Amino acid sequence: MIDLHTHSTASDGQLSPAALVSCAKKKGLEALALTDHDTVEGLVEAMAAGEQAGLEVLPGIEVSADWPESTLHILGYYVDYTDGRFLEQLTVLQDARNRRNPEIIKKLRGLGCDITLEEVRAEAITGQVGRPHIAQVLLQKGFVKSSQEAFDRFLKKGAAAYVEKFRFQPREAISMIRAAGGIPVLAHPNTLGCRNSAQLDAFVVDMKSSGLMGIEVFYSEHAPHETRLYQDIARRHRLLMTGGSDFHGAYIKGIELGTGKNNLAVPYSLVADLKQARLQADGRS
Ligand code: AMP
Ligand code: ZN
Ligand code: FE
Ligand code: FE
Repeated sequence: MIDLHTHSTASDGQLSPAALVSCAKKKGLEALALTDHDTVEGLVEAMAAGEQAGLEVLPGIEVSADWPESTLHILGYYVDYTDGRFLEQLTVLQDARNRRNPEIIKKLRGLGCDITLEEVRAEAITGQVGRPHIAQVLLQKGFVKSSQEAFDRFLKKGAAAYVEKFRFQPREAISMIRAAGGIPVLAHPNTLGCRNSAQLDAFVVDMKSSGLMGIEVFYSEHAPHETRLYQDIARRHRLLMTGGSDFHGAYIKGIELGTGKNNLAVPYSLVADLKQARLQADGRS
């Protein structure tokens, strides 16, 4: 069992990179990828912890891309997290996030939720501040009864306190990952909101022509028929398959490291395929 989609305190997860690695080791995982939102800040710690614990850790990232209707995330595996150009591009995304948070809080205060940026920063501890931290403060202060209610009433796209932020176009996110030596993978295709499988198929073909190399087939929130569809799309278009829980710690209820929801089971063979593809991709450049 492996987990190729996790978050740490470098973004909006609850465990530090080292704690995440040690949790994965305790659970008996054979490999773990750390894929924080728009940051590689946790990777040095995660890689070192993996080495010490004797656990294979894949350096990763999850880049948010522009998708007006809903959510589009591109995972990047084996990115060179010391690449200067890549780090610069991530700074653009981090700045956008930092500008957005005070605006969300202002909207929330206007809606009667008396919370401050300081409280939200304290919740984030050291890393990037994101909406799950805001949700957590709303919960602690009794404005909502669950983190999900915070998203549904206030924070999700289109909700009362939602604020847009700058994102790169999907093909830009893909090419920046490729330029940093990484393998770009379409995360949780079920969040794209495609009307039917033909629409998703066409999108995947388009993204593959922009350099997309894989698709996240196994995921906590994929229904069995979705998993089958994504597996079929991956096979037909010769894309790599990946899978993971999207573990954030207790911020997101019911998602366990490794097993996700509904007994997610991701085989180690996917890591072998990623490594093989990485060698081939390197050979081309
Ligand atoms: P941000 O990075 O601030 O845009 O927040 C992104 C994170 O918020 C995602 O990784 C999810 O954990 C969470 N999130 C986004 N939309 C929702 C939603 N509709 N319901 C619950 N959690 C969400
Ligand atoms: Zn997150
Ligand atoms: Fe995501
Ligand atoms: Fe994620």
